[in-house]
Amino acid sequence: MQPLERLADKERGFIKNYNHKISKEIIKFAVKNKAKYINLELLEGFGKDEEGKSIQKYKWMCSNWSYFELKTMIEYKAGLYGIIVRYIDPYHTSQTCSICGHFEEGQRLTQAQFICKGCGEEMNADYNAAKNIARSTKFATERKECEYYKKNKKDVDKEEEMWYTLFIRKEVVKLNG
Ligand SMILES: [Zn+2]
Repeated sequence: MQPLERLADKERGFIKNYNHKISKEIIKFAVKNKAKYINLELLEGFGKDEEGKSIQKYKWMCSNWSYFELKTMIEYKAGLYGIIVRYIDPYHTSQTCSICGHFEEGQRLTQAQFICKGCGEEMNADYNAAKNIARSTKFATERKECEYYKKNKKDVDKEEEMWYTLFIRKEVVKLNG
């Protein structure tokens, strides 16, 4: 075995455990909150250039495969409870304020910190994005339907991230009320 393959093998085992843990937590949370849906960002084809060729084989294998595995686990476990998994366009989800709806580049200051330039609200950036994903109705089944992939041809923004969120009934009530 080549050193790279050994590393990939070890990493796969690690990611698999991690994915099991994450998917279990998501479903637990969804069931507890009587969620009907789980919204996920449609994230596919990381690390491919515009012609669809892999720019870096190893990196592509890891990021694509781990996301694919996670979403498969979530779909399977959600299905056991009759919860529907939906996919949405990732466009602007991390740059829009989930409190007032203001969109502007650069509101996500770091991986963790989000400060709205509209209302001044400061939040955890992942939490903010998750709320936007949960409320989104820009459903998509393919990359070509997504604004995100039309605007971000290089596909680098979310390469390392696995976004997930829940569309919870009480959140819907709050939004409408
Ligand atoms: Zn705001």
